[in-house]
Amino acid sequence: MNGLTVFVLVDALGWELIRDRAFLGDLLPYRQPVQSLLGFSSGIIPSMLTGLPPAESGMWNLVYYDPQNSPFRWMKSLGTAPARVFDNRVGRRLLTELGRRFLRIGDNFDVSVPPETLPWFHWAESRNIYARNGVPGHSSVFDLLYSRKIEHKVYSYKDGLTDQEILLRAEKDIAEGNEQFYFLYLCELDAFLHLHRKEMPQIEAKFAWYEDALRRVFHAACKRSPGARLQLSSDHGMTPVERHCDLAAIVKSCGYRTPKDYLAVYDSTMARFWFFSQAARDEILGRLRKLDYVRLLREQELRDLGVYFADHRYGEEIVLLNPGFIIAESGFNGNGWKPAGMHGYHPAEDPNATAVYMTNCAPASPPQTVRDVFHFMTEAFA
Ligand SMILES: [Zn+2]
Repeated sequence: MNGLTVFVLVDALGWELIRDRAFLGDLLPYRQPVQSLLGFSSGIIPSMLTGLPPAESGMWNLVYYDPQNSPFRWMKSLGTAPARVFDNRVGRRLLTELGRRFLRIGDNFDVSVPPETLPWFHWAESRNIYARNGVPGHSSVFDLLYSRKIEHKVYSYKDGLTDQEILLRAEKDIAEGNEQFYFLYLCELDAFLHLHRKEMPQIEAKFAWYEDALRRVFHAACKRSPGARLQLSSDHGMTPVERHCDLAAIVKSCGYRTPKDYLAVYDSTMARFWFFSQAARDEILGRLRKLDYVRLLREQELRDLGVYFADHRYGEEIVLLNPGFIIAESGFNGNGWKPAGMHGYHPAEDPNATAVYMTNCAPASPPQTVRDVFHFMTEAFA
């Protein structure tokens, strides 16, 4: 590999928010929308790092059905009654600490399903996907960098760094170092836009801050190596939230029990179900079909979106909300959190879901989806 490449992944930087802004247009004149993937960063980023759809990388949503290997399988022997003892704020806090510290599920682990259903589930992303072997069984950009013996540096929150620290450190490292590849993952815009998606003055100020800091990083690269390849991409956009719907309450009102009749995981924009009773399946799906703001994703559609899993580990039935709708009581946004922005809608049907790809080198064939970004990221050395 010759020269120097800087790749920046900015979480939640949507095409809709930058298409009419100058945002680094002088430095990165080739800019375009790229279609995101159905799901959340837990599935999209591994796809960007491997070039594989979630159905092949195996990584999609955070919570998946795996009763054999669940870190909480020991709770099964307690029965559902003691498990329900944990179904309150203090109980969940205890289980969260247990999961994080003793069961090693990862620092981001949260009890996002009813405690009595914990023994049926497992949690992904306990490993660092920005390190070697981060996507088990597959070669990511970082595995390629190691196998090709390319000097590089990787920056992410996994090392305890804030976006500001990452940008400052990278700027200095690029100026003083001799690595050929720098990968920066900036995660804080996502949290910001969840809160402020509808507040344009705040967004302007935030974008100006990122633009300024990124400009200094890219300038450092161009100064050290005038032909440096500069790339910036995102995993998804952010959609303004218009309506909160208590989907879990609707499902509960059907009168069936978890874990006996069914299991459910609610992920903000998506509800995923496993059924152990035909009556529960018919009644719950029948009720959901009547709602005009959700739809069941069919097998062919899941296949087309690259998220079909024959073992149904991510759900036997997957119900997706229309853009702007959000599950009010999902585990993800519980505790009264009312986000102004959300992502995880249909990538082809929601313009706000669209991600971005920007570079200073004209791409021979422009990337169509976030998955294609992998090939541009690794073009110089793969
Ligand atoms: Zn987010």
